[in-house]
Amino acid sequence: MTVRLRAHHLLCMLTFVGEGYNPAFIENYRGIAKRLSAGEEIELVSGPDDICAPLLTQEKPHCVGASVIARDEAALTDVGQVLGRDISPGSIIVPDAGLLAALRGRFASGYIRQACRQCDWEALCSRIADDHFTLPASQPLLVVSGIAD
Ligand code: SF4
Repeated sequence: MTVRLRAHHLLCMLTFVGEGYNPAFIENYRGIAKRLSAGEEIELVSGPDDICAPLLTQEKPHCVGASVIARDEAALTDVGQVLGRDISPGSIIVPDAGLLAALRGRFASGYIRQACRQCDWEALCSRIADDHFTLPASQPLLVVSGIAD
């Protein structure tokens, strides 16, 4: 199986602590965090992804808005720099422990946070990063221990 993620969710997955837009969204996200923690591959997609899915029944889901698409563009550039390769929809990424540590380190330093500008969750994600992703009260649910292919 492959988890389909839009680019800016490569950042959001770093700080997911079980909060979100509604119970269905959170439950779905928890399941995805569990799959990623097990090392399931990520396929980058354009537009709404597996995390967005529970929101797509809304009349006007924000997932298709221009500002969200701009977040994806920013994240493609930033995460690509961490990976050391260009990434785009269709790219496959293995969420191993090394990648997670590298992304979190760069995220906490503020180097890969262009996508976060004016996001409603920015304060929460900043607090989690400032806590070094470790304090029990803000323990992210994505914890990968596997080794890359
Ligand atoms: S601030 Fe927003 S875009 Fe950035 S990681 Fe958090 S939820 Fe994702």
